[in-house]
Amino acid sequence: MKNLYHSDIYKFNTPVSSYWEDTSSENLNLIKLSKDIKSEIVVIGGGYTGLLCAINLIEKYNLDVVLVEAGKIGWGASSRNAGFNCLPPSKMSFKKMQSIYGKEETKQFFKNSVEGSNHTRDIIKEYDIDCDVTGDNNFVVAHHKNKFEQIKEQAKVYKSEFGIETEIYSKEEFNEIGHGGTEQYGALSYKPGFAINPLKFVNGIAKYALSKKLKIFEHTKVNKIDKENGSYVLRTKDGSIRSKKIVVATNGFYQEGLIHQMDSRVLPVISNIIVTRKLNENELNAHNFKTFSPIANTKNLLYYYRKLPDNRILFGTRGDLTGSDQSNLEMSKNMEKFLKDIFPQWSNVTIDYSWRGLIALSQKLAPSIGKIDNEEIYYGFGYNGVGVSAAPWTGKQLSKLVFSSNSKDLDISKIYKGLPKKFIFPQLRTFYFRIAVWFYAIKDKLNI
Ligand SMILES: Cc1cc2nc3c(=O)[nH]c(=O)nc-3n(C[C@H](O)[C@H](O)[C@H](O)COP(=O)(O)OP(=O)(O)OC[C@H]3O[C@@H](n4cnc5c(N)ncnc54)[C@H](O)[C@@H]3O)c2cc1C
Repeated sequence: MKNLYHSDIYKFNTPVSSYWEDTSSENLNLIKLSKDIKSEIVVIGGGYTGLLCAINLIEKYNLDVVLVEAGKIGWGASSRNAGFNCLPPSKMSFKKMQSIYGKEETKQFFKNSVEGSNHTRDIIKEYDIDCDVTGDNNFVVAHHKNKFEQIKEQAKVYKSEFGIETEIYSKEEFNEIGHGGTEQYGALSYKPGFAINPLKFVNGIAKYALSKKLKIFEHTKVNKIDKENGSYVLRTKDGSIRSKKIVVATNGFYQEGLIHQMDSRVLPVISNIIVTRKLNENELNAHNFKTFSPIANTKNLLYYYRKLPDNRILFGTRGDLTGSDQSNLEMSKNMEKFLKDIFPQWSNVTIDYSWRGLIALSQKLAPSIGKIDNEEIYYGFGYNGVGVSAAPWTGKQLSKLVFSSNSKDLDISKIYKGLPKKFIFPQLRTFYFRIAVWFYAIKDKLNI
C-alpha cells in the first residue's frame, strides 16, 4: 500500500531543518547496517519509544538488542516537536472516555499520563540530559469568552477525579502572568508540565543508550520482513538482521505494507510549526508575554505556542493536508497570519523557521501498546501529538511485554492495550481527516 502523503514528507535521509537543528550542536553520526547480523531483539524506529524500549531491555533484562532508524536518530517526530511535556495523550474528552471505558479506567489512564510526564522529567535527570527545560506547568487558554466555563469545568474534573493540580486565572489574572492578545479570555494551569528542546532530549537519550552498549544503525530502513525457520529476517538496503522478536516504534512514520497486521490502523496527521525571530522586551511587553510554560488554546483545531529561551515565539497547529514542500510553505504563511491575528502588535515580526512532521492518530483516539497475536512483534504508537510525556513511558512499558513475551499483563489502563481498529477503505484516511478538519473549522468559527 502506498504512503498517504506526498513523498516530500518521507525523505528519511535528509535532516529536517528546524530551530532545534540550529540550536543543537550534537551529531551522533552512527554507522548504517552494511552486512547480515543476528540479534535477540530488533527495535525499528529511533525516536523516544524505540530508544526507551531498547534501553530498558538492556538495563533491566540484560538482553541483546539492535535498533535501526531509517534516518538519523530522532529523525521522526522526536527531533522536531514543540517540546511540550503535556497530557493526556488522547483526543477523546474525559466525558467520552468515562462513557466508553468507565470511571475507573479513565482515572487509571490519567494516572498513567501523569506517570509518563514524571518519567520524562526523571530520565532527563537520570541520563543527565541538558535539554533547555523551561516552565513548570501547562496552560490551556480560553480563546473565546464562551470557552471560559469549559476550562473551569476541566480544572474541576482534573482536580477532583484525577488528582491533578490545577488553577484557574481570569483574563486579567492571566494577562499578569501569561500573556494578553485578542484571543485570551482566561486560562487554566495544570501540573506536571514543562517544555524542552526535543532534539537535545532525543540525542541525550541516544547517547545514554550508546553508553549502555545499544547497537544503533542510522540510515537503515527496514524494507521487508521475512520469516525463516522460526526467526524474522529484517531486510534493509545493505544488510539484514535475523531476530526472534521485533519492536515496532515507528509511530506516524509507519510504512504501510511492512507488517500486514499493523496496516491501515494509523492515521498520520501533519502538524506544522513556525518560529519567529527574537523578540525584544518592548515587543514581548506589548502582549505581556511573560511565561515560558507551554500553552495550548481551546480551539478544536488547537493552536499551541510557547516563548523559547531566547525570546522567540514558537507557534504550531494542524498542518498542511498533502505533505508536499509547496503545501508546507503555504501553510506556514497561513500560520503567520493566525499568530499575528491573536498577537496583532507583532505584525512586523518576521518568521525565521518553519517545519512540520507527522503525529499519529487512530480510531481509538488513545495510544496503543501490545503484541500482535501469534507473532513475536510488539508495538507502541498513537500518542495524538502528546508523545514527549507518553512515548518514553510507553517504551518502558513495552520492554516489560517484550521481556515476558506478553505472558505478564501490564499494570496500566486497559485503554492503552491492544491495536486500534483498521480504517475502512484505508486509502481514504486523509479524506476522512479533511472532512474532520472542515467540521472542526466550522465549529471554531462559531466558537462551539
Ligand atoms: C510538529 C510536531 C509537533 C509536536 N509537538 C509535540 C509536543 O509539543 N509535545 C508532545 O508531547 N508531542 C508532540 N509531538 C508528537 C511527538 O513528537 C511524538 O508523539 C513522539 O515524538 C513519538 O515518538 P516515537 O519514537 O514513537 O516516534 P518518532 O519520533 O516519529 O520515531 C519513529 C521513527 O521510526 C523511523 N522509521 C519509520 N519506518 C521505519 C523503517 N521501516 N525502518 C527504520 N526506521 C523507521 C522514522 O524514521 C522515525 O524516526 C509533535 C509532533 C510533531 C510532528
